[in-house]
Amino acid sequence: MIHSLTRHFFILTTLLALSPAVSALENVKVQLRWLHQFQFAGYYIAQEKGFYQQQGLNVELIPGGPHALKPIDDVLSGKVDFAVTGSGVVIDRMNGKPVVALAAIMQTSPIVWITLKSSNIRGPLDLADKKLLIMPPPESAELLTMLTREGISMEQINIKPTSYRIEDLIDGQADAYDGYLSNEPYYLKQQGIEYNLINPRDYGINFYSDVLITSEQIARKRPELAMRFKQATLKGWEYALKHLEETVQLLHQKYAPKKTLDHLRYEARTLKKLIMPELVQVGHMNPERWQFIAESYQQLNMAPVDANLNGFLFEAPQERDYKLAFQITVGAAALLLIAGLIIVKFRRLSVELKKSNRLLSELATLDQLTKVQNRHGLVEQAQGLLSQAQRNITPCCFVMFDIDNFKEINDRYGHCAGDAALISFAQILTHHRKKHDLVARIGGEEFAMLLVGCNLNDATDIAQNILKEVRNTTVQCPSMDSQFSITASAGIALTEGSLEEFWHEADKALYQAKNSGKDRVVVNQGNL
Ligand code: GH3
Ligand code: MG
Ligand code: MG
Repeated sequence: MIHSLTRHFFILTTLLALSPAVSALENVKVQLRWLHQFQFAGYYIAQEKGFYQQQGLNVELIPGGPHALKPIDDVLSGKVDFAVTGSGVVIDRMNGKPVVALAAIMQTSPIVWITLKSSNIRGPLDLADKKLLIMPPPESAELLTMLTREGISMEQINIKPTSYRIEDLIDGQADAYDGYLSNEPYYLKQQGIEYNLINPRDYGINFYSDVLITSEQIARKRPELAMRFKQATLKGWEYALKHLEETVQLLHQKYAPKKTLDHLRYEARTLKKLIMPELVQVGHMNPERWQFIAESYQQLNMAPVDANLNGFLFEAPQERDYKLAFQITVGAAALLLIAGLIIVKFRRLSVELKKSNRLLSELATLDQLTKVQNRHGLVEQAQGLLSQAQRNITPCCFVMFDIDNFKEINDRYGHCAGDAALISFAQILTHHRKKHDLVARIGGEEFAMLLVGCNLNDATDIAQNILKEVRNTTVQCPSMDSQFSITASAGIALTEGSLEEFWHEADKALYQAKNSGKDRVVVNQGNL
């Protein structure tokens, strides 16, 4: 009797241990790119708010630092499951390392050359023959790409491995220091030391940063694990960016007690601008942008020219694969007589999987109705265009349009007529678009144009011509007899500061145009 009970108990516990659905949380190790700081806020929040746990994960976040700079090798050796790296990870991929990118947290890299104001080193050309402290490659590869792009050869520069001490810059031991926008400038400001930033973004190098990676092995064999980890992490980021102060307090108390609250707040504000949560889905990656990054590194001879990026970007598991996993696990669960529990768990996974599939399709960059760019498309393309314009010192303007009284059009003539008006409006914008300009539908009846090589006067003329054409165009709904015309309002701003900043300025101008009677153009003079 006792013997039989023991045997049953043994079988039951073995089966329990073997079943993924009922076992305790799955252990996952994550190598961060640097010491605990706001740079990894999303990961801490996912941990503290239980987002990882909700995905069945027990996550260990391992801080990086000067002595932990091989996150890619650690992922490939299985020492950790995931890691955060720079855009240089694509170099490793092209050199044959089977790493896979899951998400890019920073839409634009925070890595910059820092020099002292007193040194008069202001641009990349001034860096030739100077002593530069830099992280070991492929970290900070964007800094070298900028130099090559500006015509400085690798022989002309004197690079030394970084000492990780900003004091070396202050004391004159080095002429330029590889730093993080959110970090060293804060220390320098605090000490009252004036500095220059040489930012690759101002020279047309606009790379992703803080890329979440895993091994191809995990991506292929355990795609659902990668998916669960990614989803919980992005949820953590979204929360962190919406609740900066709460996140900063948490970091200060639990993760980075040595950093002051003031510094953490500075980091939070700086990095949020580079993550651009208002404009892009956090973590978003565009294959074409990766291709561009890869080619930039190829031009630097950092990777073979014939290498391709096939398999580098993680693809969400297909529904089919999931169903199979579902059936297998339910089978196992029946054996354990706790099928109910497992079904509940997997239903949740199924919902989440559907959600992520939906998300992926939403990320396509064309607006289905009007066939102009959607908001994502605009943000993606604007960054490249603006960097280039900045480099060539070309002025650009951002114009936001909003159709007037659109709700009335829908109410009076029907939704189909509203749609026809949107299509007609988009056609007029496209008609006024020059070769390098961008046209996008950024919301229901809101559109935007990025006018390249255009000052405020020219932009005002263009916007006024557009409004005139809109006024004079008759809209006809294909399925109805009604004909009508519409008007629209426009707000213009110069593209100064970050995308979010001038977007906001143009929006303010548009608001004024609405408030002062609609059907007109208002120019934001605030930043002149
Ligand atoms: P205002 O002049 O102040 O801009 O007023 P408005 O009526 O244009 O602005 P409001 O934001 O109140 O209404 C916008 C309307 O646009 C509400 C919504 O039903 C409609 N809309 C949004 N997207 C679409 C769409 O894709 N098709 C159609 N037909 N209507 C849409
Ligand atoms: Mg509106
Ligand atoms: Mg409107």
